[in-house]
Amino acid sequence: MINLTYEYKLQPTLEQEAVIEDWLEICRKVYNFALAERKDWVRSRKCDITACSINREYIIPADAKRPTYYSQCKALAAAKKQIPELKRPHTHVLQQVLRTVEAAFGAMWERGHGFPCFKKRMRSFLYPQPNTQPVQDGMVDLPKIGRVKMRMSRPLPDGFEVKQIRVVRKASGYYVHLILQSDAVAPDPQPHGEPLGLDVGIESYVATSSGELVQNPRFFVSGQRKLRSLQRRLKRMKKGSRNWRRQHKRVARHHEYLSNARRDFQYKLAHRLCDQAGMIFAEDLNLRGLAKGMLGKHCLDAGWGYFLQILSHVCWKRGVYFAKVDAGGTSQTCPSCGVVTGKKDLSERVHHCPECGYTANRDVAAAQIVMQRGLSAVGHAVKMLGEGNVI
Ligand SMILES: [Zn+2]
Repeated sequence: MINLTYEYKLQPTLEQEAVIEDWLEICRKVYNFALAERKDWVRSRKCDITACSINREYIIPADAKRPTYYSQCKALAAAKKQIPELKRPHTHVLQQVLRTVEAAFGAMWERGHGFPCFKKRMRSFLYPQPNTQPVQDGMVDLPKIGRVKMRMSRPLPDGFEVKQIRVVRKASGYYVHLILQSDAVAPDPQPHGEPLGLDVGIESYVATSSGELVQNPRFFVSGQRKLRSLQRRLKRMKKGSRNWRRQHKRVARHHEYLSNARRDFQYKLAHRLCDQAGMIFAEDLNLRGLAKGMLGKHCLDAGWGYFLQILSHVCWKRGVYFAKVDAGGTSQTCPSCGVVTGKKDLSERVHHCPECGYTANRDVAAAQIVMQRGLSAVGHAVKMLGEGNVI
C-alpha cells in the first residue's frame, strides 16, 4: 500500500469561505471543550489521591470514568440537541477533532510529548471518509460544503484513491490536502550501487562521503532575520489595531514563505543525493540531546530530522536504499585506516590522522565513517579510503 498527499489551492466562493471559517471555529471550540473535560478528569484524580493519602489503599478509581473517544462522541451527539451550531459541521469532521484530542493524550503518555494545549486558532479540519471520486472537473466535493473550485496545479496520479481530505487555512489562502492511497505493492529498495554517507555539517548543511559540502541556503539566515524584524515591529503596534492586523498578516505570510522555501530546498537536495547513489546512509541523531548542546540552534534551524524524513521518502520513491546508522563518535575515527583519533574540538575543522596521514574536512571524514558503518550494517565489504584523496 502506498500513501501520498497532494496539496492544491482552493478557490472558494465568499459563501464557501464563510462556511470553512465557521467550521474551523466550531472545531476549535469542540477541541478545547473535549480537552478541558479530560484535563478536569486528570486533575480530579490527582486531588483525590493527595487528599486521602492516609487511606490510599482504599482508593478505588473515581466513579467518573476516564473520558475516551467514544464517550466524548456520545456526549457530542447529545450536545447537538442543545447547541444548534454543532449541527453545522459534518459529523465526521467533528468526531475527527475528538480523535485528535485522543491522539494528543496518546502522544503524551506513549512518546513523552507535553500536556496538550488549548487552541487559539484551528488551522485545519479533516474529512475521514469523503465521497468516492471527490475530484472532478477542477472541483473538489466537500460534504456539506459543496463543490469547491481548486487550482489543478498537477494531475492526480493514476491508480490512487482519495482516502481522506483535509482543508487547511494558511496565510495565503485555503488549501486542500488529498490523502491518496494505492493498493499497489512497491518493494522496498535493496542495498546496491554506490554508497553515500551523510553527516550534519557544522558550517555546512550536509557533508557527503564523496567530499561535497552542501552550503546552508541563504534564506536560512536572511529569512530568519527578516522574520525577527517583522515580529519586532508587530510587537510595537497596538494589538488588534488596523496596522497590527496588517503586520500580523505580513508575519504569517513570511512564515509560510520560509517553510515553503525550506521544503523546496530539502526536496531538491534529496533528489540530487539520490542521483549519486544506490544506497544512502545518514546519522541517526537524537535531536533532543543535541538541541541542548552547542549545536542546538543550528541543527533545529536546519531541520535535520525533518530532512531525513523527506530523504527517506524520496529514496524509497527513487529505489535508493536508505538507512540510519549509529551516530556516536563519527568524528573520532579515521576513515582511512580505522584508528581511533580521539575527540575533536568543535573548532578543529580538519581531520588529520597521525597514523596514516589522511587529511580531509572534518565533516566529510565523519560522513565517510557513516558510510562505512552503513556498509557493514548491510553486510557489504567495507572499503577503507586511500590516503589523502579528499581535502
Ligand atoms: Zn588514519
